[in-house]
Amino acid sequence: QKGQIRVQTENIFPIIKKFLYSDHEIFLRELVSNAVDASQKLKTLSSIGEAKGELGELRIDVVLDAKEKTLSIIDHGVGMTGEEVDKYINQVAFSGAEEFVNKYKDANIIGHFGLGFYSAFMVSDKVEIYTKSFKEGSGVFWSCDGSPEFELYNVDYNERGTKIVLHINEESAEFLEAGRIKGILERFCKFLPIPIYFSEAGEKKEGEEKSINNTDPIWIKKPSELAKEDYEKFYRELYPFGETPLFWIHLNVDYPFNLTGVLYFPKIKQSYEIQKDKIQLYCNQVFVTDEVKDIVPEFLMLLHGVIDSPDIPLNVSRSYLQGDPNVKKINAHITKKVADKLEEIFRNERTSFEEKWESLGLFVKYGMMTDDKFLEKASKFLVMEDVDGKFYTLDEYKTATETLQKNKEGKQIILYTTNPVQQDAYIQAAKEKGYLVVKMETLVDAAFINNMEMKWENTSFTRVDADIVDNLIDKQESSNTVLSKEEEEQLKTLFTLQIADLNVTTEVKGLSTNSAPVVATRPEFMRRMKDMAGVGGGGMTAFYAQMP
Ligand code: ADP
Ligand code: MG
Repeated sequence: QKGQIRVQTENIFPIIKKFLYSDHEIFLRELVSNAVDASQKLKTLSSIGEAKGELGELRIDVVLDAKEKTLSIIDHGVGMTGEEVDKYINQVAFSGAEEFVNKYKDANIIGHFGLGFYSAFMVSDKVEIYTKSFKEGSGVFWSCDGSPEFELYNVDYNERGTKIVLHINEESAEFLEAGRIKGILERFCKFLPIPIYFSEAGEKKEGEEKSINNTDPIWIKKPSELAKEDYEKFYRELYPFGETPLFWIHLNVDYPFNLTGVLYFPKIKQSYEIQKDKIQLYCNQVFVTDEVKDIVPEFLMLLHGVIDSPDIPLNVSRSYLQGDPNVKKINAHITKKVADKLEEIFRNERTSFEEKWESLGLFVKYGMMTDDKFLEKASKFLVMEDVDGKFYTLDEYKTATETLQKNKEGKQIILYTTNPVQQDAYIQAAKEKGYLVVKMETLVDAAFINNMEMKWENTSFTRVDADIVDNLIDKQESSNTVLSKEEEEQLKTLFTLQIADLNVTTEVKGLSTNSAPVVATRPEFMRRMKDMAGVGGGGMTAFYAQMP
């Protein structure tokens, strides 16, 4: 037998109400999005002559009446005729937005699934609609108390547009607090394209009204229209307390998917200053989430900024996101863009690139460790600073030291110091012989060295005071100024013991410097670094989690 599945409205309604979204606050995002869509539709129709007359002020008002326990969302968009209410509202999961997009190819419309409106019932006992279409005809009233029965009749509502009135239910009393509503609007609606105003019923408006949102965020503009100041100003809008970023990348893709956005490289001095989850994800200027895992490569989660794409499937589960082919493409594209931009800065403004390396280097090294595509590109612009403050790319370093710094197996040796002061005698001795010593002082460097030794077969990182380079360095000259290997070992043991006594964790320090009072043994170090090198970079997350 073949047939059609039937849905029992009595049973499906409670399910929609309860489980449509796990976050109840989403209802406001959905209703304001509908109000924005209605306004955008009117603009589009007016521009092609299908809607006549003045547009008037297209604004959205969110009005709270705590006494009456109502929250109203008012727009001056297309409105609905009685027939349209019956078609778009009474039919659950019929999207008027999708219909409009198909007909008018309007990319600015937010709605999609035809379910958003019903999220109102997650927080309301009763929902009322007052609406008047831009077309001829009377105003219309619709009301529903959350049962599958509705009322629909003509009323005297003479303003073009729609007013949705929510009678907030008892469990949702939080949404009768002005602060809560403002908070939600500021989070989800901050960059919507139609001005949104919040007010409380009966409250006198003092001074100039201020809209909740910036209707014209920079990521939707052309890079050629923007100056440095615009990007810096927008950064402060996103992160009021943030330091001026180092530079930014303006993303603008329309094939094979749509994506716009601005990614900022923040200034970072210490790896533990890095804050993740600073990138905000938008869909047609509606805030969706700041958990961008899966969409942005992990090492780029250290960046700040905004990504906007109508092509990321937003209403589906995270596990689905991971496997989504669009998401994978977006991920790869962002990586490529960032690598290209870094290379461009490196080629065109090398001095500035080197000046920013202290912060930049962290991203680049982290990226090289966790993303092979990026590794390939970044190998061209990774720089290493020698003890005299001169920067070398990998190739430059190799050219400069070609004849000298090869080990017995023919591998190129990169001679590095983890502590220029403590290891100065070794450094001086090496320099006198014409060797180049670069600085690798941070925790990220320790992990980086280890990881690159595995990936670059012809390269061997060697610490300037390590046993292996004994034969490169004239030990006699330096024996007066530094400890002998034996003494050094004793000292290490002493420190390790003291630390153990004090019950201080030895997890964090890696093997970065001699001066660190905690010394990990070589096998221990190797084990830890291997853990860290795990693909997908999960290890690095744990690494940061351990930071003070
Ligand atoms: P979607 O927005 O995904 O299409 P919704 O459930 O949010 O689905 O809304 C269903 C439809 O109801 C919309 O597509 C639109 O046609 C209509 N609608 C909802 N709110 C408004 C409004 N404020 N003004 C005009 N039409 C609206
Ligand atoms: Mg909608």
